[in-house]
Amino acid sequence: EEATLSSERTGRRLTVLSGPSGVGKSTVVAELRRAHPEVWLSVSVTTRGPRPGETHGVEYFFADDDEFDELVASGELLEWAEFAGNRYGTPRAAVLKRLAEGRPTLLEIDLQGARQVRESMPEALLIFLAPPSWEELESRLRGRGTEPEDVIARRLEAGLVEMAAESEFDLTLVNTSVQDVCHRLIALMTGPEGALSPH
Ligand code: 5GP
Repeated sequence: EEATLSSERTGRRLTVLSGPSGVGKSTVVAELRRAHPEVWLSVSVTTRGPRPGETHGVEYFFADDDEFDELVASGELLEWAEFAGNRYGTPRAAVLKRLAEGRPTLLEIDLQGARQVRESMPEALLIFLAPPSWEELESRLRGRGTEPEDVIARRLEAGLVEMAAESEFDLTLVNTSVQDVCHRLIALMTGPEGALSPH
């Protein structure tokens, strides 16, 4: 009975995955989507244009500035932030619905968004995804080959700020292997609370 109780509690808990741009958050999320359909992943709204291969409603809902303004004004976003020149936000209603259903729910958002969630939903579990090293982060960001140099520079700059905020999170996962990070995430989101170990 004890196990049921605690997994029920963790199952209802909102999990936030954050970390610097280029650390591999979206690769982790894609693997979760493939291997763990029981986890519900929030789809954010963004004013950034789609990258090759991205589909409206899957990776993001793509919106223009006016549409985004409207979502902010009507209070439909649980949190939102400007990141490297574009705005990103989490639709509130879908998240609350999944949490009410007791479904493990994951947000993949930036540091500013993670802070807002901590304020509005203190029970949320905040996970920081860290690169094995700074050099690794830089080479991943460049290796992606999808952004021009000035965009990469802005993202690296944001990454420095994000790296310094690691201590604000409940725990850190180092992204040495996508499979490994996925296993640990799933254990944290769906397992008993005992799975929550310090760094
Ligand atoms: P990208 O443009 O590389 O997909 O995302 C850039 C950054 O925005 C990443 O750090 C990503 O986690 C973050 N992000 C994506 N969706 C949201 C969101 O809904 N809210 C916030 N605050 N950040 C987001």
